[in-house]
Amino acid sequence: MLDELRIQRAAASRLAEVDPSRLGFGDHFSDHMFSLRFRDGAWGQPEIVPLAPVPVHPGCLALHYGQSVFEGLKAFRGTDGRVRIFRPDRNAARLHDSCRRLCIPPLPDGVFEAAVEEIVRVEHEWIPRGRGEALYVRPLIFAEDAHLQVRPSTKFRLLVFTSPVTNYYDREAGAVSLKAQNRYTRAAPGGVGFAKTGGNYAAALFPATESIAEGFDQALWLDGTEHRYVEEVGQMNIFFDFGGRVATPELRGTILPGITRESVITLLRDRGIEVEERRIGIDEVVRRSRDGTLREAFGAGTAAVITPIGRIGFEGAMHEINAGASGPLGAELYDALIGIQLGEREDRHGWNRIVDLESAPAQAAD
Ligand SMILES: *Cc1c(COP(=O)(O)O)cnc(C)c1O
Repeated sequence: MLDELRIQRAAASRLAEVDPSRLGFGDHFSDHMFSLRFRDGAWGQPEIVPLAPVPVHPGCLALHYGQSVFEGLKAFRGTDGRVRIFRPDRNAARLHDSCRRLCIPPLPDGVFEAAVEEIVRVEHEWIPRGRGEALYVRPLIFAEDAHLQVRPSTKFRLLVFTSPVTNYYDREAGAVSLKAQNRYTRAAPGGVGFAKTGGNYAAALFPATESIAEGFDQALWLDGTEHRYVEEVGQMNIFFDFGGRVATPELRGTILPGITRESVITLLRDRGIEVEERRIGIDEVVRRSRDGTLREAFGAGTAAVITPIGRIGFEGAMHEINAGASGPLGAELYDALIGIQLGEREDRHGWNRIVDLESAPAQAAD
């Protein structure tokens, strides 16, 4: 697909500057980036170049009006030494949907997966080896036209770059606490809640900051119409174990359709556990946390993996789940996901894309 790919290597790697025992999430960037421009109605020639600031015009449409979309996925160094990318085909499909909603020309078939695979191949030394660590891959498409009118751009740029990361939430710190937001809204029906686009996150900053100032880890979003139904968390979808039956909010266009969410639903059904995708009232969550039929809750996302939820604050009251601790189902799903991603457990559904490091493309002379 990317037979025209030109690779310009960085003069020196910055890998030695990174302390592998203190990776964090998003603190470090690897040496290169994949770049592809859309001009005159078509996506052009791909290249991999040293990671560097990209010049933008002050009138850049993405900066003013937010015409941009992104993705997030991970590459792993398996226990067997092989490199695996988790479900890039699903990210490609979601990016396509995000592009459509934001009037961004979608990438030709196969380009997304090839771009991700090529940058992972070039940066494979950056894939950390610790359990729970990965090379996070961030594809981004943004509008490049310099203009002041609010209209779709005619020029775009795709960049794919990577960051060695550990889990988003510190697993040692235990379960997270969420504030159910009955005042602010993340997304409304007909809006862009299902798209991974910058505006959703900018709009969430103020409520999230307020929740954190009140002592919570994050905001829990309720629906934008009635503030009655649970939607999701900042970077993760949410699951409730109602005792042998697991429920997660259904996708209604206001929730990000997480690939981890999809994978967790499959893993649960593989285990014979019933999963309901439905509307879940915050009143049901509160009632069940009181009467003990809410056994545990956890978030699911690429960055967060499986993150236990120990407390939910709603209308001034705090509701504990599983005595504020992480639960067995979330722990099992975490182990199952990580096990598949590291090649330790059978990949029954063909989720891993194995990167062949032997067939690395010839390096350009420059
Ligand atoms: C990315 C994201 C998720 C999780 O999606 P994954 O594909 O599992 O990483 C959930 N919610 C929001 C708002 C997100 O941006």
